[in-house]
Parts: sequence; structure tokens; C-alpha cells
Amino acid sequence: MQIFDEITALRTYLSSCKKSGRSVGLVPTMGALHEGHISLIKASKLQNQVTVCSLFVNPTQFNNPRDLEKYPRTFESDRIILEQSGCDVLFAPTTTMMYDKPSTIRFDFGSLDKILEGEFRPGHFSGVALVVSKLFNIVEPDHAYFGQKDFQQFAIIRKLVEELKFGLQLHCMPIIRESDGLAMSSRNMRLNAIERQRAIILYQQLISARQDLRHGKSWKDIQQAAIRQLGTKEGVRLEYFELADRHDLANHEGIGVENGILLMACYVGEIRLIDNLIVAED
Ligand code: AMP
Repeated sequence: MQIFDEITALRTYLSSCKKSGRSVGLVPTMGALHEGHISLIKASKLQNQVTVCSLFVNPTQFNNPRDLEKYPRTFESDRIILEQSGCDVLFAPTTTMMYDKPSTIRFDFGSLDKILEGEFRPGHFSGVALVVSKLFNIVEPDHAYFGQKDFQQFAIIRKLVEELKFGLQLHCMPIIRESDGLAMSSRNMRLNAIERQRAIILYQQLISARQDLRHGKSWKDIQQAAIRQLGTKEGVRLEYFELADRHDLANHEGIGVENGILLMACYVGEIRLIDNLIVAED
């Protein structure tokens, strides 16, 4: 595996790959890699001759400085995991390499970045769009792979690619879960043993709401019951639990089993976790 921390050297290397006709797949990550990330690497390897994984904890997408400071940084084990999964190129730039001067560029995605995550994390998606644009410009991939785990992020990036005419194909890959259903996340390693047990509640609530929707219960009743139930759980604080249209995340009257997605954000102790479930899928 080739390792780069420098933009020019990476560009030179990738341009020689592209000249020899090899297609390039990009998997952007913030490191602390787990099987969710590896599933994206595997998907890229199936479609491309060269897979690039970027590893960069992007400061502009953190609206909580403590979350940025505490974000796990495990470069050496990430390098080994990537090596073992057959990744071809690791790009791990420093913050000054990516932001040589403070950026004043701000993205506005209309209603899409004001709802759900956007309501609770102002500026988050602007930071995501900024770093993803930089990565797309640096790597110029043919394909880029993201997880359904960050469903709203994928919708934002899809809009970014469409409107800014990035010439690449986007892929949204399924959520990889622990055996008890907890969605894998780099933040899970910050949960203590009791919190780890409590964290199962997100998936349990999503599954139970999906079941109720399929049985024809009204969303308002389901939502209220979930809010009540989560309110009684020690060490757990719900931020939002919503049903949205899976195509555009809009909130309208006609959302049901065929077109709905359930999305949740919840604090377990100090750790903010998110998860989602497409109502029609098993
Ligand atoms: P992150 O390092 O958290 O920024 O995530 C990098 C990429 O991995 C994003 O596209 C995420 O949506 C994706 N990802 C994170 N967790 C999972 C998971 N459990 N299953 C599948 N993809 C994931």
C-alpha cells in the first residue's frame, strides 16, 4: 500500500495510474476504522483497479470542539487494517495540508441541511461538503463510496455532485452492525461497558417502529410512544426520531412503508449516536 500525506505527490501517483487506464475508487473516512469502513473498501475493490482511502479528522464538520478533541485517532491500527483489506493507497493529510488557510467558503443546501442532523449540528454539512469537495478535486475518483449510516450526509453529497458536476459515480453502501444490532461507529469505542449495553436501544426502537408502521399504526402514535419510552431510560437522551421520505428526506403526508426511512439521534452518556432504517427493507 502506498501512503501519502502530501497532495502533489498523491496527484502525481494517481495520474500515472489513470494514464494506464486504471479506474480509481475513493473511500473517505475519519479513521478509527471498523468493518463498516472495510465494507466500503471491499465495494471499491470490486469495481476499481485502484482504491484510495482517505483518513482525515475534518475539523470544519465538528460543531462541538470537545467531540473533535475526543475523536479517536488510531493511525497505526488503521494502517494495518487497510493493508490487510487490500487498500492500494492511504491518503492521510495533516490539517494544514487540507486547510492551508482558514476557509471562508460556506455551503447552503436549502432545507436539506437544516433538518434532522442539520438542526442539531449547525454548520456540520457545510464542513462535510467542503472536505468532500477538496477530496474529490484532489483524487478525481471514478467512483466514491459512502455509508447509509450517514444517510443525510449521502443526500447532501449527492446534491453536491449533481450541482457542481463532479464527474464521478456515487455509491451508498448498507449499514454494518454489531451482532446485537448496534450500528458500527468509530464513536462506539468511547462507550463504557454500561453505555455499550444501553446503546442497543437505538436499533431496538427503529426495529419496533418499523414493525408498527408495517402493521398500520400511525407515525405520530409511534413517535410519541418512543419519546415516552426513551425518556424513562437512564443515561439516554433522545435528540430526534423522525420518519422521512427516503428519496429526498422531506417530511410530507404521504410517507409510508414503501417510501419511508426512520432516522434517530440519541446521546448515550456523552456520546452522540445516529442510526436509521429503511421501512421497506429487512
Ligand atoms: P466516518 O469515518 O465515520 O466519517 O465514516 C466514513 C464512511 O464510512 C462514511 O461514508 C460512513 O457513512 C461510512 N460508515 C460509517 N459507519 C458505517 C457502518 N456501520 N456501516 C457502513 N458504512 C459506515
